[in-house]
Amino acid sequence: MDLTVLGCSGSYGAPPDHACSGYLVRHGGTAIWIDCGNGTFARLQEHVALHDLDALVITHEHPDHCVDVYGLHVALRYGADRTGFPVYGPAGIDARLGHLVRGGWRGTFVWHAIDDASRVVIGGPAGSDGITLRFSRTDHPPPTFAVEAAAEGRRLVYTADTGPAWSVDAFGSAADLVLSEASYLGGAGSGAGGPVRRSPHHLTATEAGRAARAAGAHAVVLTHLWPGTDPAAAVAQGSEAFGAPVALATPGATWRV
Ligand SMILES: [Zn+2]
Repeated sequence: MDLTVLGCSGSYGAPPDHACSGYLVRHGGTAIWIDCGNGTFARLQEHVALHDLDALVITHEHPDHCVDVYGLHVALRYGADRTGFPVYGPAGIDARLGHLVRGGWRGTFVWHAIDDASRVVIGGPAGSDGITLRFSRTDHPPPTFAVEAAAEGRRLVYTADTGPAWSVDAFGSAADLVLSEASYLGGAGSGAGGPVRRSPHHLTATEAGRAARAAGAHAVVLTHLWPGTDPAAAVAQGSEAFGAPVALATPGATWRV
């Protein structure tokens, strides 16, 4: 299973990463777009043809994770003439986002509400090209779901947006790769290498590393850094807390899970 970063700018688009949250997860012939933040739809098309995309997952309704759904809608409806495309997200998000779509989604998408009990196989039976998705409600005000993607015994956990009251161990221990938000720097780094923490519902790089370590994760990639945060400081803090070097998401980077 491969994870490709389409965008990783935290909360709003800014240099140097530009695009907000979006990730492509592939296994065999299966391709899932997880979070369609602003700027990620164009990047997605650099990696996968629209007719080869199997599903979209939207973790929550904040714009930096969902607004490129409108571009996908236009491309499928008026370009590819594709209907019934599966979209997974929190209950009611289809109605809330649909206010901007004249006439509604009209069959272009089939919306599926996710919750902590959801278990979905995308792209074929588990054990073949299929990717199995599970979800977990995080510590972030609008209903927000972390995502576990599993294939052939390998597990990727994406935290979506969360504060420290939720942890990646919600999916069990020993994930092969944890893609963790790390919006802020912690401790003495706050204010020096990046903006001071403004919200309890996001993680510091230290908290991201600490939670992954406690859950026995094998590898960590930090993402969703608030614009202006010193990436080297985030990696240093995350690595110290994880007890091993962590990586940093950059657009176009791919990891084999
Ligand atoms: Zn966000």
